[in-house]
Amino acid sequence: MNEPVRDARAISCADDYDPNSMPVTKAREVIARFLTPLTATERVNIRAAFGRVLAEDVVSPLDVPAHDNSAMDGYAVRFADLKADGDVTLNNAGTSFAGAPFKGAVGAAQCVRIMTGGVVPAGADTIVMQEHVKADGDRVTIGKGHRKGQNLRKAGEDLATGQVALKRGITLKPADAGLISSLGIGEVTVYRRLRVAFFSTGDELVSIGTQPKEGQIFDSNRYTLHAMLTRLGCEVMDMGVVRDDPKLLERAFGEAAASADVVITSGGVSVGEADFVKDLLNQLGEVVFWKIAMKPGRPLAYGKIGAAHFFGLPGNPVSVMVTFYEFVRDALLKLAGCDPVPVVPTFKVPCTSSLKKAPGRTEFQRGILSQDAAGNWSVRVTGEQGSGILRSMSEANCFIILPTDQGNVTPGALVEVQVMEGII
Ligand code: AMP
Ligand code: MG
Repeated sequence: MNEPVRDARAISCADDYDPNSMPVTKAREVIARFLTPLTATERVNIRAAFGRVLAEDVVSPLDVPAHDNSAMDGYAVRFADLKADGDVTLNNAGTSFAGAPFKGAVGAAQCVRIMTGGVVPAGADTIVMQEHVKADGDRVTIGKGHRKGQNLRKAGEDLATGQVALKRGITLKPADAGLISSLGIGEVTVYRRLRVAFFSTGDELVSIGTQPKEGQIFDSNRYTLHAMLTRLGCEVMDMGVVRDDPKLLERAFGEAAASADVVITSGGVSVGEADFVKDLLNQLGEVVFWKIAMKPGRPLAYGKIGAAHFFGLPGNPVSVMVTFYEFVRDALLKLAGCDPVPVVPTFKVPCTSSLKKAPGRTEFQRGILSQDAAGNWSVRVTGEQGSGILRSMSEANCFIILPTDQGNVTPGALVEVQVMEGII
């Protein structure tokens, strides 16, 4: 189990940063200091291992490939038999199919017909592509210009026995499932899933299926959180909507922290409105409230309630998603055992929109990255950028990250983008 934070001021006063304007990178660093990855593991079948975090190195029990084999359909020959300046005619002694090797050795002036993946017979050291020979019955004529060892895959060239095939801490991808099964391994040891409990706070929220009264709105944050957590491979505990009532909140925080590794809430962390949430969390645990120098997503709470980590996200639906991706994602992956936590790459492209931006905070605008007819990539902003406009997240395929000191952006200027979707 994780150690509780002894003193929340250790978080807030660790540095001279103003908690009313905490830089994004600083907040990430401070959070990272308090994260102890879980250690519990389980054995899972390779088919169930996709997306899980490997808890032990996978060591190859064999050479891959197991034998020297051919990369082409052609003829296995002794390089010494070939002529540097003309043709030579060899005698075909048999065939090596993939799965049905030629039994015997290739003698002087002999060759063996070989298929892709076929075991290279003893004596042969070179493969000549079938397109480069003239075959007439068992007589095979080969010209000049070949290289010793060509088109031959050596035993163990991919992986040698005892070599680490996959490192502890990686999240298993489809290629890894194939690699592990190619070693004849059917089960792997992974970390248990991280348990994350979450609830929405707000008197104005109703769940789907209830008719909202005047001034009430449907809760959407729980559904985005559910989806984002599921994508990350977490075990999710949806605790519903909790009213802005200290007693109900206290009970919800207690229940969540007792049963989960991480507790995430949305709403109730902005200035003024939630003083009782602050007081409550100060009683229950060690939590700090920051105003991050970012837009959207300014208010953010982080700390521990008992042994559980706590993230108090803002209420606005876009802010929830941005703070989740920019802070919570990395923290959850680290807690889940990812080592290193995979970095989502950013790169620069021209921006075709003009962007409004005030210096002093990092902005995560929602962008659409697209390619023109000539194949060049550029980004444009999705329409209005209000932190309540969830449609901007639905339409976007990237964040446009505008650094603290940046001012307005004029069309054509290069901006940094971070793609939201991955290929695998
Ligand atoms: P708060 O931080 O609680 O003041 O919430 C800020 C804004 O986000 C308010 O307009 C809330 O109505 C809205 N909001 C809070 N929680 C949710 C939610 N779960 N789903 C949709 N909107 C929300
Ligand atoms: Mg609220």
